[in-house]
Amino acid sequence: MQPTAPLITIAIDGYSSSGKSSMARQLAKSIGYRYIDSGAMYRAVTLYAMRHGMIDAEGNIDTEALLEALPGIDISFRINGDTQSTTLGGEDVESEIRSMAVSNNVSPVAAIPQVRHALVTMQQAMGQQKGIVMDGRDIGTTVFPHAEMKIFVNASPQTRAQRRLAELIEKGSAVTYEEVLSNVINRDNIDRNRKESPLRQADDAIELDNSTMSIEQQNRWLLDRYNEIIARL
Ligand code: C5P
Repeated sequence: MQPTAPLITIAIDGYSSSGKSSMARQLAKSIGYRYIDSGAMYRAVTLYAMRHGMIDAEGNIDTEALLEALPGIDISFRINGDTQSTTLGGEDVESEIRSMAVSNNVSPVAAIPQVRHALVTMQQAMGQQKGIVMDGRDIGTTVFPHAEMKIFVNASPQTRAQRRLAELIEKGSAVTYEEVLSNVINRDNIDRNRKESPLRQADDAIELDNSTMSIEQQNRWLLDRYNEIIARL
């Protein structure tokens, strides 16, 4: 009989729309791990702030009001068969958090240190038992610095914008390539340059540039890395 593989923690970080969420979700499914999309949590906080008038049309955030509301913002994940939805106060907001309006406001919200502390604490609690794949920007550096497997995904801004555009159009959004590209570049800049746990590759992360890879190739590549790491434990 095959011995059961030890449970590990898998951190997948990278730039926006690099395809990391799809890869992370697929890997978790293949190896029977829990998948957590940490970006969805920042998006849910942003949606809450937008709905409660804490972000104006110019993107200015009423930080004081948001920090006061923060402990009461209830974010969770609901699993429906093969898919997972993000909920806010019990309401399924999976589709709304992916809108351009949320995408345009999320990075400044995610740069607020107290917002990061609150979400990082939740993420660390979710990973306590290991057996988890989490994707985001600071998973390998801040959330799980001791993760056994760390991947950093990148692709050119143009490739990422094309992928995101295709997703948004499929969902019926009337957006242009230019709008999506400018959002991708803007979020990269804010994520890389913020003071609190900026987006950067962990020293011990394996880098993947998937610009020219198919989804199947990426999934295979990731599963191979997992098998290599498990074999060494
Ligand atoms: O991964 P996704 O693009 O959905 O994340 C949305 C935004 O949330 C990112 O642009 C980034 O500003 C923020 N984020 C973060 N830290 C994470 C995950 C996401 O700052 N771990």
